[in-house]
Amino acid sequence: MPAPAAGKGVIERYRSLLPVTDATPAITLGEGGTPLVRMPALEERVGAAEVWLKLEGCNPTGSFKDRGMVVAVAKALEEGAHTVVCASTGNTSASAAAYAARAGIECVIIVAAAKVALGKLAQTRAYSARVIDIGSDFDTGLRLARDLSEHPGVTLVNSINENRLQGQKTAAFEIVDELGFAPDELFIPVGNAGNISAYWAGFRQYKETGEACGAPAMRGFQAAGAAPIVLDRPVTNPRTIASALRIGNPASWAKAVRASRESAGSIEKVTDDQILDAYRLLGSLGVFCEPASAASVAGLIDRGERGLMDAGSRAVCIITGHGLKDPEIADRESVGALKCSADPSAVARLLGW
Ligand SMILES: *Cc1c(COP(=O)(O)O)cnc(C)c1O
Repeated sequence: MPAPAAGKGVIERYRSLLPVTDATPAITLGEGGTPLVRMPALEERVGAAEVWLKLEGCNPTGSFKDRGMVVAVAKALEEGAHTVVCASTGNTSASAAAYAARAGIECVIIVAAAKVALGKLAQTRAYSARVIDIGSDFDTGLRLARDLSEHPGVTLVNSINENRLQGQKTAAFEIVDELGFAPDELFIPVGNAGNISAYWAGFRQYKETGEACGAPAMRGFQAAGAAPIVLDRPVTNPRTIASALRIGNPASWAKAVRASRESAGSIEKVTDDQILDAYRLLGSLGVFCEPASAASVAGLIDRGERGLMDAGSRAVCIITGHGLKDPEIADRESVGALKCSADPSAVARLLGW
């Protein structure tokens, strides 16, 4: 078990388990080492022995994407790249921009700006990336990014870059290192399906090397309007409030299916109403996440209500991104300010005291 290492970053902490060598610059912004928080209210609600949340929104740019991006940018540096490029609907671009800035190289982001959540785009620009709005969809953007990466010294850091998944698997290591065992079930949102594949690679690796004696059932959740894996066919017009899950033809489709089969898990869907219920419930319990992240807890609650949770189960839900990423939804889904004069007795009356 590697020593806990707050602020050390995933490359240093898990060096021997990653595709890095002494020639790979160990860059970091302090990613990884995110909180694992036990949730008694959710244990009671679903009837499980233990429910933990892994708060990946606490990564430097507010999403789990940092774990993979740090490895992808480090490898790009090692190969002598002067620029990284990606097409993105949000969190990938924020992460690429931050790590490129940290590494002192250029970052070019291809977006269809109207579809990107406000926080994610503002953040990407703050990290001084060059943002190119092609006013089109993600697939066209990805084709363009691939073309651009043919230029010498330009590396593509979309999730087809295998180093991304390698870095993301460190979250599975952290869970086992911190709990001292592999959980029975892992609940995780599924968009492009890279993260569920990365977690499974991590849990499997720890089992094979004897760091853990088991591995969890992988339970992935797609949004009902963007559920190609559940439906077993691509979705041409994916629709969901959870923008990070709005993907109709996931890049890591086959890997995700394998993860669910090999782990005796499942890939299921949750509706936008279930996602928003879980989003508001999490807020009321002190955990503010973006809508996509609430899909894991929506899935947990759904399985609880269907009587599918084992009383002895120890479950971990991945909270993939921070609530501030999508301030417009936060504003819409919460109770507004109460209007009142600045008079103590009037305020007390309004509060029912
Ligand atoms: C990228 C992302 C997802 C989806 O992860 P995949 O690896 O694409 O399945 C979920 N939640 C958030 C916040 C994300 O940024």
